[in-house]
Amino acid sequence: MKIKLLGKNLEELKKVVADEGLPGFTAKQIAGWLYVKKVRTIDEMTNLSKAARAALSEKYEVGVTPYGGLQISSDGTKKYLFPVKCAHRRALNAGCNGSLEEADLEEGAVEAVMIPDDDRATLCVSSQSGCRMGCRFCMTGRQGFHGHLSAADIISQFIAVDESDRLTNAVFMGMGEPLDNYDNVMRAIEILTADWGFAWSPKRITVSTIGVLPNLKRFLEESRCHLAVSLHDPFGPERLSMMPVQGAWPIQEVLDLIKQYDFTGQRRVSFEYTMFAGFNDTKQHADALIRMLRGLECRMNLIRFHKIPDFPYETSSGVIIENFKQRLNNSGITTTVRASRGEDILAACGMLAGQHMQ
Ligand code: SF4
Repeated sequence: MKIKLLGKNLEELKKVVADEGLPGFTAKQIAGWLYVKKVRTIDEMTNLSKAARAALSEKYEVGVTPYGGLQISSDGTKKYLFPVKCAHRRALNAGCNGSLEEADLEEGAVEAVMIPDDDRATLCVSSQSGCRMGCRFCMTGRQGFHGHLSAADIISQFIAVDESDRLTNAVFMGMGEPLDNYDNVMRAIEILTADWGFAWSPKRITVSTIGVLPNLKRFLEESRCHLAVSLHDPFGPERLSMMPVQGAWPIQEVLDLIKQYDFTGQRRVSFEYTMFAGFNDTKQHADALIRMLRGLECRMNLIRFHKIPDFPYETSSGVIIENFKQRLNNSGITTTVRASRGEDILAACGMLAGQHMQ
């Protein structure tokens, strides 16, 4: 099995070229081929000598994984399906750290969704195959956990989609909990924002979490990217009944942490709130949200729920959602109802990959 160059940062590429006896400046050239010109083979790195390319090709490959499935919505949203091989949970539990044999890898599939919007093209990327957070309303959560994506798997999604050269934004809101795969997600963000990489501003990237507290603190310290928090219910017992994470890291503790950081400048924090009829859509819920977010410069996204099998709740009605929005807006929390995109291609997170895996 060849080693992927994709997903390596400049320091690691310097080590690769040193090990191969190549001049140090070759590392930056390779980074340019991987992340700016986005080549698929080492042979295309034409400013490297033939001998250097041959030496590299003995051990390494670029490592872009082409998509294996594609659905296109009537509104232009495109859902890509990628095959991935992940470190199996057993291997992870045993403490393996990346030097895994082929037998330790589990086949899976993840999605990336490209959402066009006027002059923007946002890629919603996956960070894990499946998810171990077990949110009851989520199709990905129902699949269980199949493994962390490597930084190469994450960056490959950006390169393999047809719109690679015109992507303007990224959201880590696909399959998996990004902060449960912290090192690989942060490595991918480093590659996206470094001047030797994609050279994106961190303002173009939003990381979404349900509130993995220890890694959230690291993320807030170590990155300048926007943050989105899946809140979904202000009341602890209700939230716990939908999201087991509430038992480990209550939302109030998550908010106490977030309030220690500055979101009045370029960095934004937003909250995701899926509206379940008769469950979390009352005035009491809106008022509790207003109380708990007091003093925080933030936005709220209300989300209509797409019904999934064997789950008791449906989405709240349009009137209820509108009233909820008004109540929050009147209190000073900028609140929008997220436009539904790609409904005709099963855009609910995890559906396509779930079908594939079954
Ligand atoms: Fe995991 Fe997010 Fe689904 Fe929860 S909502 S199970 S964190 S993918």
